[in-house]
Amino acid sequence: MRIAVIDYDRCNPDKCGHFLCERVCPVNRMGGEAIIIDEENYRPVIQEASCTGCGICVHKCPFNAITIVNLPEELEEGCVHRYGVNSFVLYRLPVVKDGMVVGILGPNGTGKTTAVKVLSGQIVPNLCGYNDSWDAVIKAFRGNELQNYFEKLKNRQIKPVVKPQYVDLIPKAVKGKVRDLLKRADEEGRFDEVIRELELENVLDRDIKHLSGGELQRVAIAAAILRNAHFYFFDEPSSYLDIKQRLKVARIIRHLADSGKAVLTVEHDLAVLDYLSDVIHVVYGKPGAYGIFSQPKGTRNGINEFLRGYLKDENVRFRPQEIRFTKSSERKSQEGEILVEYPRLVKDYGGFRLEAEPGILYMGEVVSIVGPNGIGKTTFVKMLAGVEKPTEGEVDWELKVSYKPQYIKVDYEGTVYDLLSKINAGKLLNSFYKTELLNPLGVPDLYDKQVNELSGGELQRVAITAALIRDADLYLLDEPSAYLDVEQRLAVSRAIRHLMEKEGKTALVVEHDVLMIDYISDRLMVFEGEPGKHGKALPPTGMREGMNRFLAGVGITFRRDPDTGRPRANKENSVKDREQKEMGEYYYV
Ligand code: ADP
Ligand code: ADP
Ligand code: SF4
Ligand code: SF4
Repeated sequence: MRIAVIDYDRCNPDKCGHFLCERVCPVNRMGGEAIIIDEENYRPVIQEASCTGCGICVHKCPFNAITIVNLPEELEEGCVHRYGVNSFVLYRLPVVKDGMVVGILGPNGTGKTTAVKVLSGQIVPNLCGYNDSWDAVIKAFRGNELQNYFEKLKNRQIKPVVKPQYVDLIPKAVKGKVRDLLKRADEEGRFDEVIRELELENVLDRDIKHLSGGELQRVAIAAAILRNAHFYFFDEPSSYLDIKQRLKVARIIRHLADSGKAVLTVEHDLAVLDYLSDVIHVVYGKPGAYGIFSQPKGTRNGINEFLRGYLKDENVRFRPQEIRFTKSSERKSQEGEILVEYPRLVKDYGGFRLEAEPGILYMGEVVSIVGPNGIGKTTFVKMLAGVEKPTEGEVDWELKVSYKPQYIKVDYEGTVYDLLSKINAGKLLNSFYKTELLNPLGVPDLYDKQVNELSGGELQRVAITAALIRDADLYLLDEPSAYLDVEQRLAVSRAIRHLMEKEGKTALVVEHDVLMIDYISDRLMVFEGEPGKHGKALPPTGMREGMNRFLAGVGITFRRDPDTGRPRANKENSVKDREQKEMGEYYYV
């Protein structure tokens, strides 16, 4: 079975020399019609039945607009939805079960949202043909666990609730006070309980447009949980939350399943996904072209198979190399030349006071900043960047600082290439930067796009790139993982590490994803205190010491998975949790 997908956003028949693909196709040259021209829409169409899969058009197209893939025949009957001719194809669906949290793990653009649209009844899946009725869907799923579900969906007996991915967009769609929004959602009289659990008391009287990302996330989760539905879908519930909030939200979502509801979630923080899910599906394929849902797998095994890049039951290798986490906790630290010794710094905003103990940053190292939201991490970073003047202490060095803020504003008119080449055109041509940063983050694919039309994940990759190509001594990156999938998070982590090592520069990274912290950091800087009131920044320390201090404050222990070395959160009060807490070893034993 062969599928041909054309990304019409990229296809530009005038700039390729007028339908180059049609002219080079050997089938067409022999008088056949593998590629025809749709005159009305002025674009090429590949007829899969006539195409031999030679791949010549794929290589010749100057805009990489064409994907041709051969897929196993048995997938054909699992074809769920195709948006149109030569467009994205979704194969198979996740299970939906009362009383279970089903996690979905896979790259962006492989059909997770499409699957949710099907399961929430927003799309009647066309089964990749001309079907447009639920009856045909029910028939196609006969004998499958989803048959019953679709019957209920057809009869409107299923009420779905969706927590959207991009919470920053909520203020554009919903106006007014938080209290009013949540009161409207409260269908079971659980308002007080949910507000307390999600610690939203302080924002109830605030206007939605004045909420931070973390507050918007918790309001969106509360709005979903307050509804009385059958099927709940949480799209990336952890973005902008700190670790404690992430695990708390995970517990709240779990309770929903424990009370008999069916829950589906997409989550790219693997520690959270692990903690949250009963089973997971790995989604693989080619972003933008096709996506395949794996069989349901036990959570631990599924995440490990994902990291290995090999699905055992399916006998599919979807990534050539494994992702491994180093088992040794200590990487090099306190080696090399000192970049800066900063003094004790205090910032007093009146309502909030941050005190940072003096510390040293070395050249060539990556230091992760960890701590709860509202504890002064951004304030500290801004003092180092010279954006905020300390109340006590002085930042009098002449370091060049490059800063990627947590919330990225888009007011740029122009393409991604224009933006990046204005910052540093030379680095876009530099082969080291190409191999280590631009290509792994898929940035060249975005060059022709308008900056103000990028999705959240695309914008994040562009903002990280913009920060890293600037010539600077110190790179400050505030939550670079937001809206990135797992592969992208690891690509960003590798890029940051390699650039700092090679260039002898220093990066400070504010991050909440434990796997990313583990992967990226030479050292840790822990922030403690009372969020919104006072914060204390400890000097950078080794990973083990820092993680123990930090996790003790959060009250969570982690262990390493023996197969992949990835950190896994222990269940609260489990034997391991109690043992590790007793030993004071919150991270490594
Ligand atoms: P994910 O949630 O995994 O990021 P989506 O389900 O949102 O993936 O999208 C998968 C692919 O489907 C996208 O890359 C896009 O190319 C395609 N797609 C999504 N919606 C449409 C649509 N309405 N018409 C055509 N293609 C679409
Ligand atoms: P974090 O980065 O750890 O989430 P921030 O440094 O952003 O924390 O904020 C710490 C506290 O300082 C918050 O309570 C925030 O409301 C407050 N704060 C930040 N900037 C200002 C400011 N310019 N004026 C007054 N208060 C501020
Ligand atoms: Fe030209 Fe590529 Fe579009 Fe074919 S797919 S018309 S080669 S831009
Ligand atoms: Fe033609 Fe080969 Fe492209 Fe198929 S893969 S459309 S046969 S050039």
